[in-house]
Amino acid sequence: EIRTRFAPSPTGYLHVGGARTALFNYLYARSQKGKFILRIEDTDQARSTEQSYHQVIDSLKWLGYEWDEGPEVGGPHGPYKQSERLHIYKEYGEKLVAEKKAYPCFCTGDELDRKKKQREAMGLPYVYDGKCRALTPDEVAEKKAQGLAHTLRFRTPSKEVVVEDMVQGTVRFDTALIGDFIIVKSDGFASYNYAVVVDDHLMDITHVIRGVGHLSNTPRQVLIYEAFGWKVPAWAHVSEIVGSDHKKLSKRHGATPITAFRDLGYTARAFNNYMALLGWSSPDGREYMSIAEQKSIFDVARCSKSPAMFDVFDLAKAAEVDLAQVSISELETYLFPKSKLNWLSNQHIRATPDDDFIAEILPFVAATGVVPSGECNADNERLRGILLSLRVYLDTLGQIKQYLADFYLPFNPVLENYVSSEYFAAENFSSLAGAMLRQIEQMGDATDTLEQNAIKDAINAVGKETGLKGKPLFMGVRLASTGRLEGLELPVYLNLLGKGRVTERLSKMVA
Ligand code: GLU
Repeated sequence: EIRTRFAPSPTGYLHVGGARTALFNYLYARSQKGKFILRIEDTDQARSTEQSYHQVIDSLKWLGYEWDEGPEVGGPHGPYKQSERLHIYKEYGEKLVAEKKAYPCFCTGDELDRKKKQREAMGLPYVYDGKCRALTPDEVAEKKAQGLAHTLRFRTPSKEVVVEDMVQGTVRFDTALIGDFIIVKSDGFASYNYAVVVDDHLMDITHVIRGVGHLSNTPRQVLIYEAFGWKVPAWAHVSEIVGSDHKKLSKRHGATPITAFRDLGYTARAFNNYMALLGWSSPDGREYMSIAEQKSIFDVARCSKSPAMFDVFDLAKAAEVDLAQVSISELETYLFPKSKLNWLSNQHIRATPDDDFIAEILPFVAATGVVPSGECNADNERLRGILLSLRVYLDTLGQIKQYLADFYLPFNPVLENYVSSEYFAAENFSSLAGAMLRQIEQMGDATDTLEQNAIKDAINAVGKETGLKGKPLFMGVRLASTGRLEGLELPVYLNLLGKGRVTERLSKMVA
């Protein structure tokens, strides 16, 4: 059985880099009918926070990756938080010491820093010089008796470590450049490289899929597997994500909390679809895909080595701005209108079943404050009609706020902005508006409803009366009755506006 895992450190919020790693692990597990495990790597005491843990969990839940084992759901290989596994690291550390594959090191931080600086001054990479490698058991006992703090170091054999990576190919490492590295810190906490191996082994992880930034850690991890005589998992180091300026993704590029995309009004379906394409492509080149399709066709071996570009934000426009810090409404102003994310998002919004779409968009509608609260519910037919008609225009659910005022707020056109249109002269405009106004006033009964067929007839009648046809007629009527040159198909638009609003607009145009 294939088992993958996502192993976030709760030291900050989940951003697109981590979320994409989670997605790839999730998709690969599902495509192979395997299991997806969540493990929290919270051994960095100083930097791990509860708040970050909750943000990570909330983000993963929003994205919809159901983990088969992990925090909140449990499982046979728990606990799934590293801070609750310290006794396990201790036990395995002692095993390595007993087998002389690791040793206590009493070098102080100051001493190591000094040596590191010396090496750097000579232009050499830092490698531990092995000072404590040859301490005798008596010397170790004596130092311990003196109460000296110590770490545990891995005794690195000289050899070449060969990593066969599903994405990066064969990568070779000379252990001379690695040296003896720390596996247990002086505070008793396991180091990342050591804990990750113990956990991946005990949790039966078969495939380690993570960012290429971790490739340099892999030889250390391989050495630890070998020291224990454990089977090494399959490695897949996926390409890094860069901003649209080709630089490594950072907060500045909109490595914003994943929840920001939710708050902007992207659906998880669209965001997952977009992230799936960051470094992976489907065999037939299709881009718009449901999560179910991704789950069936994702293959980590198809991931590309070249950096994937996160091109959602207009960095030139956002120069000097830390996109992770700004409010959602400001963040929205830095989105590239024509990004692939927006394109996919629009497709997913269109494909959403009506009732689901209404349920998803209602909170965004309510947040505009434009629709009276008594009308802001899924049963309100007029609101439903408006939302379903506007749906095709939306790249995000949040964009609904650009449209609702038109249907709900008083209309105050600035005529000069319109009458210079290429379609008609100012003199003709007022008579056109007057003709349409008379048509509308005659229409229907006492109710506010304008029937779509009646509207088409009204436009034809206005054409006859004014002698206009084609674009000048249609654009003129549109402008006179809505105050805009663009928007929904006119009969639909006027029907949704209702007789009262259309009459109000036309009267203002005649004046
Ligand atoms: N906790 C590590 C991180 O967040 C996990 C790396 C790994 O997947 O091994 O980067």
